Amino acid sequence: MPNLPEKLTGLQAYDPITGSYAVRLDANESYFDLPSVLKAKIADRIEELDFNRYPDPLANETIQAFAAYYGTHANLVTAANGSDELLSLLINCFLAKGSKLVTVSHDFSMYRFYAALSEVETVVVPKTAQLQIDVNALIAACRDADAVIFSNPCNPTSLGLPRNEVIRLLESVSCLVIVDEAYMDFWDESVMDLVTKYENLIVLRTCSKAIGLAAVRMGFAVANPYLTGLLRAAKSPYNCDGVSQAIAATVLRETSLLEQCRTEIIMQTQRLYTAVAELVKRYPSILECVYPTRTNFVFIKTAYAREIFESLAKAGIAVRCFADGLRICAGNRREQTLLLSALEQILQPIG
Ligand SMILES: *Cc1c(COP(=O)(O)O)cnc(C)c1O
Repeated sequence: MPNLPEKLTGLQAYDPITGSYAVRLDANESYFDLPSVLKAKIADRIEELDFNRYPDPLANETIQAFAAYYGTHANLVTAANGSDELLSLLINCFLAKGSKLVTVSHDFSMYRFYAALSEVETVVVPKTAQLQIDVNALIAACRDADAVIFSNPCNPTSLGLPRNEVIRLLESVSCLVIVDEAYMDFWDESVMDLVTKYENLIVLRTCSKAIGLAAVRMGFAVANPYLTGLLRAAKSPYNCDGVSQAIAATVLRETSLLEQCRTEIIMQTQRLYTAVAELVKRYPSILECVYPTRTNFVFIKTAYAREIFESLAKAGIAVRCFADGLRICAGNRREQTLLLSALEQILQPIG
């Protein structure tokens, strides 16, 4: 065996739920596939592609479409192979071995994963009993840290930190502040417009959730021109392939379709929240609570997470299991009906 660093020992490949499930509510994807007219438009674009040529290293057309849709400027945007690549890049290149990264818990597991790989020290600030970010504790932890990262709205809790609280954090710390807004399409408290005001702010967005392009791998960092210049310089030159660039650019221009999907998903999520809140009322000894959601999923606090997760899996329904709860993506009307009747059947005998 070659001599490899210790940080690699025990590392496991990311293992999303595999197998065939009739209903997939585990990965927070959009439940809308692209309409066939749009797929045909994409097919035409791909047919025109010069497959023998390297793609545009900055994905200019795509960042312009992104900037137009979100009301920002392309010169503040860096495109990447999913926001996962940006997380890796930021933690790898903007921090060094031994740097301190502040995270919160619960939050997206990938932050700690990349930090461990880069031998960056993570300081985990626990959330309040209501699973909200404790901004005062976060500010205190940032005092001797190099960066802080959190998702807003949060995966997996579905809760949002209001914009004025994020601003309070920005006003109080000098380290790099990375706000992962993967689900901000479902809420309205973005700080993307503040990247030129705060020199330490980086906002991450993705096409994997509300935009419905999880298959394509396209994520964006929005930051001031200085940080953007560094990100563009540090990334690998052709990080976004030509096919993904063409698809994302095409879809991001479909503003009325995107608005329609976004509104519909928010409505379906509220519908799921209401139905689950009803179950919480009826089975209080099993389901502790469901949190008000600002995302496209709900988080149910329950000591029976593992049991319910396994019973749902047997019924062909995939959700995400945590030690203290279940994260369930909204899904369409039919999927929601299947989920709710399966939940009913599982809860009845236990309750
Ligand atoms: C889904 C998700 C992402 C998106 O990752 P991609 O690599 O763009 O698919 C980023 N952050 C959070 C918190 C997420 O839940």
